Amino acid sequence: MELYASKLIEEYLRTRKIPSTACSGCGLGMNHKVVIQAFKELGLKTADVIWGTSIGCAGRQTFATFKGDGFAGTHGRAYAIARGLRIALPPEKKIVLSVGDGDAFGIGLMHLIHAARVNADITVIVHDNLGYQSTGGQFGFTTPMGVKTDSSPYGMFEHNLMSEGMDVMHILKGAGATFLARHVVLADGPRAVESVKKAILNRGFSLVHMPHPCVTNFAMKHLGSRVPVEIFRWFKERTAPLGQEKPNTIWATGIWHDASNSRAEFSEVVWGATEKIRRTGTL
Ligand code: SF4
Repeated sequence: MELYASKLIEEYLRTRKIPSTACSGCGLGMNHKVVIQAFKELGLKTADVIWGTSIGCAGRQTFATFKGDGFAGTHGRAYAIARGLRIALPPEKKIVLSVGDGDAFGIGLMHLIHAARVNADITVIVHDNLGYQSTGGQFGFTTPMGVKTDSSPYGMFEHNLMSEGMDVMHILKGAGATFLARHVVLADGPRAVESVKKAILNRGFSLVHMPHPCVTNFAMKHLGSRVPVEIFRWFKERTAPLGQEKPNTIWATGIWHDASNSRAEFSEVVWGATEKIRRTGTL
C-alpha cells in the first residue's frame, strides 16, 4: 500500500514538495490523495489536467505541488479564471480546482454560482477546513454550530451554510450545477474517489465538498487535542450517508445531485453562438 502511494505521488506530484508545507496530521493530504487516485483510475496523465487553486491552506498545498500545469487565482476568483481557460482549451483537457471553504462558499460564492449557472465544465474540489485556518483559526461559513474558534470563543452561534437545513448544496443545485457530492474522506474515502471520477467525467459544472480536520487550529481550539483518533471520532460521529442522517449529523455524504451531461456546456454554447454570428450575422 505504501509502495502504491509513493508511486502515485511520483507520477502526479513534485516529490521535492513532499512532505508538503501542511501541518503534520492535516486532512488535506488525504483529500489530495483522493483526487490523484481519481486521475489514475481515469487514466489521466499530468498533461491531461490543469489543476488550479486559489488562496488559503488548500491553495498553498496545491499550487506548485502538481507536476502538470496549474494556476493560483486571487481569493475567490479561481472560477472566473477557469471559465476563461475552458473557452480557450480543448474539451479533452480537464480543469480541476482545489479551493477552500472561504474561497468557495464565502468570498468566491458569487463566482461559483455563476460558473454553475453557465454549466462550465470544471470540477471544483472544496477542501473545507471549517473556517479561516490559514489566518489563525477564525470561524467561517461552514463552521459547525457550537464549535469554538478564536473568533467564537463561546461556540459558533451565527447561522451558517451548514445549519438548520441551509445546506450550501441546495444553493448550488438551484444555480444549475450538474454534479454535486460530499464526502468526509476519513469515513468514506473509496466513495470519494468514485465521486471525483464522476465529477471529472461530467461535461459540465461539478463540485465535490470534502470537509477535513484542521489539527492545528480547529482541533486544538475546539477539542483541545490533535490526537488523530479523537479527531477521527468527532468527525465520524457527525457524518452519515445521505438518507441516514441522525439529529447530530452535520455532513450528509454521498451524491447530492447527478444530472451529468444533461445541459449544454458553457464553452460549447459560447463557441456555437460565436460561430453562428460569424456565419449569419445573427443568433
Ligand atoms: S492550519 Fe489547519 S487546515 Fe491549514 S495546513 Fe494546518 S492543519 Fe491544515
